[in-house]
Amino acid sequence: MKIEKIDGEDKKVKFIVEDTSPSMMNAVRRISMNHIPVLAIEDVGIIQNSSPVFDETIAQRLGQVPLVFDSEKFDVKENCDCEEGCSNCEAKFTLKGQGPGKIYSGDLTCETGDVEILYDKIPIAELDDDQEVELEATAIISTGKDHSKHQAAISSYQYYPIIDIDNEELTKKQKKKCVEVCPREVLEIKNDKLKVKDEMKCTLCKECTEEVGSGIVVAGDEEKFIFKVESICSLDPKEVLEKTAEILEEKVERVIEKLS
Ligand SMILES: [Zn+2]
Repeated sequence: MKIEKIDGEDKKVKFIVEDTSPSMMNAVRRISMNHIPVLAIEDVGIIQNSSPVFDETIAQRLGQVPLVFDSEKFDVKENCDCEEGCSNCEAKFTLKGQGPGKIYSGDLTCETGDVEILYDKIPIAELDDDQEVELEATAIISTGKDHSKHQAAISSYQYYPIIDIDNEELTKKQKKKCVEVCPREVLEIKNDKLKVKDEMKCTLCKECTEEVGSGIVVAGDEEKFIFKVESICSLDPKEVLEKTAEILEEKVERVIEKLS
């Protein structure tokens, strides 16, 4: 398998993978999204809420706050020895705010579990004079399979485009039409010839081939893919992919074990 990184920011990465299969790409996509354990706020106990925001809305907003946690330290409750929850399987927070002003994610205080808030400016509620919010919250480890708030990343892949143009078969008008109908500006005309300007932008929509019938063929390479990962948790995309590889390996080992 050959991998080439072509684009990368803080939370997003795009790369080309060669010598692999659609099923492998799909496994990586699904594991990276739904099988990496992520800590998120699950239970919220409202002690006081005189803000205009409903209790459930506050709880829902808190559930979406990305938390920075040590994945070596935390484990899912089912694997923990405790009965009622402990600092190895959950983290406790408190939040207290008084108006006038806004309450942000950064106002959460971690009481047990050594967890930090990744983005501290996520608005939770706006308070007028003499309005108040006080609550306790518990975060647990789970995966995107259970709830989207535990989802680690948004991942997708597409077949690498193969665009084959036969300029002899295309009229001048058809070439112009191909350039016009492409929604991603993949094609261009140079010296009266239809050419590929940027194949990476092609989404295999085939608007061009449908327009002219023949003379241009667009297909997806079944062994080469463009893969995108955007982390929506505290891990960076590289860590998301490392975790994905670890989990995939464990799953394969489990299958081999069961077969033998
Ligand atoms: Zn525990």
